[in-house]
Amino acid sequence: MAKIILTGDRPTGRLHLGHYVGSLKRRVDLQNSGEFDDIFIMIADAQALTDNADNPEKVRQNIIEVALDYLSVGLDPAKSTLFIQSQLPQLCELSFYYMNLVTVSRLQRNPTVKSEIQMRNFEASIPVGFFTYPISQAADITAFMATIVPVGEDQLPMLEQTKEIVRKFNQVYGDTLIEPDILLPDNKACLRLPGTDGKAKMSKSLGNCIYLSDSEEDVRKKVMSMYTDPDHIRVQDPGRIEGNCVFTYLDAFCKPEHFEKYLPDYENLDALKEHYKRGGLGDVKVKKFLNAVLQEELAPIRARRKELEKDIPAVYRILKEGSEKAYAVAEGTLRKVKEAMKINYFDDAELIAEQAKKYQEQ
Ligand code: ATP
Ligand code: MG
Repeated sequence: MAKIILTGDRPTGRLHLGHYVGSLKRRVDLQNSGEFDDIFIMIADAQALTDNADNPEKVRQNIIEVALDYLSVGLDPAKSTLFIQSQLPQLCELSFYYMNLVTVSRLQRNPTVKSEIQMRNFEASIPVGFFTYPISQAADITAFMATIVPVGEDQLPMLEQTKEIVRKFNQVYGDTLIEPDILLPDNKACLRLPGTDGKAKMSKSLGNCIYLSDSEEDVRKKVMSMYTDPDHIRVQDPGRIEGNCVFTYLDAFCKPEHFEKYLPDYENLDALKEHYKRGGLGDVKVKKFLNAVLQEELAPIRARRKELEKDIPAVYRILKEGSEKAYAVAEGTLRKVKEAMKINYFDDAELIAEQAKKYQEQ
């Protein structure tokens, strides 16, 4: 069986460190491993419109931001197909048919959608499109017969929903679709990177992000004002590591060699944590270290972005070519789906002959 990846991001803002550790970095590694037959990376503008219907300009403006972020972290259009969701009408068609295989109560149970509804104050007026976006994600994934979906932990319920749809479809219409596997980050801190405000998730919608394209100075300022342990007031006070996002970020980004380079007084992260817990280690020192670690990771990404920004039309061309390639693949799947569902009347000579015979005999 071919090994195929599908994943993507909503163009609701520039991409941030949560995306980077939760999904982007892994994608680049997988891309460069050469182990995959095809890699599709989608800018999910149609999905972004499900909760931004009144703000299409936001979505429109952010397509290029996401594309620039993709290319600057190392996604390579020669190896990965970068495309825009709305340019593939097949995805809408597949969603429409999958809707018949899912119940309203099943959608209501989706914990990610539940918390997103709360976050957006949608309780009394949930757009139907938003409510059903897990179904549209199933369409995105199955349209490419994806076998692997590398995403953050918040996407687990979507993958579960997709698997259920695939099973149901295959059971009702015969073996057609492929059940995908989720690929979560193997570092626990990267499953759901918290925001700089200490909230559970760094998210564009919460305004608590460090963006990949932030300037060196912006990153420094954000790190220096990050949420730590509110009870760690004086340097000599013992500090808490749990829920202290400076340490969570270090868990996500810091490598042993960073100590040698930027903080040689400590052997490793455990030693730093121990000192913090004991008391006598100030937040500023830890934040300065984190800043150095992040700057090292972000500097080359920022530099590549600067280069790419010089030729914006070329980036749009990459997206156009990617969308054309993805279109053809999705079209092939849609044809198979319609055939399985027996809604391919004009391709079915047998059906036409059978009907003709029936009427001749009357
Ligand atoms: P929005 O607020 O518009 O939903 P978002 O910041 O949640 O934006 P998405 O585009 O919904 O970003 O997510 C894209 C991908 O990034 C998904 O695979 C998701 O799991 C992953 N991701 C997003 N935020 C984080 C995070 N804080 N930690 C780990 N992974 C994340
Ligand atoms: Mg999201």
